[in-house]
Amino acid sequence: MLNIKNLSIGYETERGVAKAVNNIDLTVEKGKILGLVGESGCGKSTVLYSLMGLISSPGKILDGSVSFEGKELTKFSKEDWRNVRGKEIAMIFQDPMTTLNPAYKIGDQIKESFLIHQDKKPLSYKRFFKRSDEDKVARERVLELMDEVGIPAPDSRFSEYPHQFSGGMQQRAIIAIALSCNPKLLLADEPTTALDVTVQAQILELMKTINKTHGTSIIVVTHDLAVASEFCDEIAVMYAGQIVERGHVDDIVENPKHPYTQGLINSIPKIENREKIKPIPGNVVDILELGEGCAFASRCAFAKEECNQNQQMLSLENGRQVRCILYKEEALLIQ
Ligand code: ADP
Ligand code: MG
Repeated sequence: MLNIKNLSIGYETERGVAKAVNNIDLTVEKGKILGLVGESGCGKSTVLYSLMGLISSPGKILDGSVSFEGKELTKFSKEDWRNVRGKEIAMIFQDPMTTLNPAYKIGDQIKESFLIHQDKKPLSYKRFFKRSDEDKVARERVLELMDEVGIPAPDSRFSEYPHQFSGGMQQRAIIAIALSCNPKLLLADEPTTALDVTVQAQILELMKTINKTHGTSIIVVTHDLAVASEFCDEIAVMYAGQIVERGHVDDIVENPKHPYTQGLINSIPKIENREKIKPIPGNVVDILELGEGCAFASRCAFAKEECNQNQQMLSLENGRQVRCILYKEEALLIQ
């Protein structure tokens, strides 16, 4: 349903154009969950913004194509976006408190989203506070949605304000807003990063249930490979604006190929054997200073001379792709 090809996105800065997304290819099939994983600053959010039509100055789509259900999103006008954003593609952001308006009741915020996307345009809160039949129907639908996302006692919680909700409940309310228009594709940008670990698991469980019951495709962006490994069907690992490895979740977790993916997996704390975590040495490179060659080479234990040349994405078994010279022979065998 979603097919991203050769997509590059840059941000104009005083020091030149920072290529935050550098020639990436991604696909998401209907009903599947894709995890986009990588350290902070590698371009994950920028990819999601491009799927919501939210790239604006100083950001610019430099090249490539994004096809969603046969529609070319890079060619969309503002009007086109209004018909897709929030309706067919919805997004959940990292921090619930920046998405919810502290001054309005939770139920009304879900209702507003629901009505707007039905083209009822209740843009003035005053107007739609008036009770009407339409309003009653909308309220029923909101209560249903609140129930579906696991907000207990929806009838009384409808009239509560965001600060009366815990972080996990706020995130559930946001998921209800995202679901209010029954999107085909749900984008989640670090949806659990601001939450406690136990609540994190519940929110992921909820998103998985939505995926199963509605067949909603999901792209979840996370810096946490452990989160992605429990939740996703496919994983794409990003480093410095590029996809360095892609594949089925089990393949990636059990047999990571790219030294960067290996590093990410080694830096996940494991409680059973109290092993020391092994962080990846060094820091994410400055994308403005990137030259030719593999962006990870400066932090890579296996780096050699040839890594200074640009690396092709290599295709391995089972749909696996990796951008690393170490697998050149393995890739040749498969061709
Ligand atoms: P992630 O979500 O993986 O942390 P982002 O997509 O937010 O990464 O950012 C990718 C890169 O783009 C970073 O290097 C960041 O500094 C740069 N960037 C993001 N937004 C802007 C902006 N508005 N202006 C300039 N650079 C930006
Ligand atoms: Mg981000």
